[in-house]
Amino acid sequence: MRSLYNPTRMNNIAKATEDLVRKLQQLCPNCGFVDFDVVERRKGLPCELCGLPTQVTRAHIYRCDRCQFQQEVLFPDEVQTADPMYCSYCNP
Ligand SMILES: [Zn+2]
Ligand SMILES: [Zn+2]
Repeated sequence: MRSLYNPTRMNNIAKATEDLVRKLQQLCPNCGFVDFDVVERRKGLPCELCGLPTQVTRAHIYRCDRCQFQQEVLFPDEVQTADPMYCSYCNP
């Protein structure tokens, strides 16, 4: 528990850089146009304890400006359950 704080911070910084790089490299899988980017964040990641949907992001929706191709990327934060602290049932 005690070593949790710093690594999390470091991960967030690394993640921000990663996001930027990813954004620059992201091409539409359908037409190859640049700027294939997140247009919507869908909430509803299930709570780790009770399984009810929470306010945590479950999926990112990518859309191409050029051909309107759309792709849903599940679990963009690489977690499939939400911390119960975000659950309105477990932690009202
Ligand atoms: Zn496209
Ligand atoms: Zn819950």
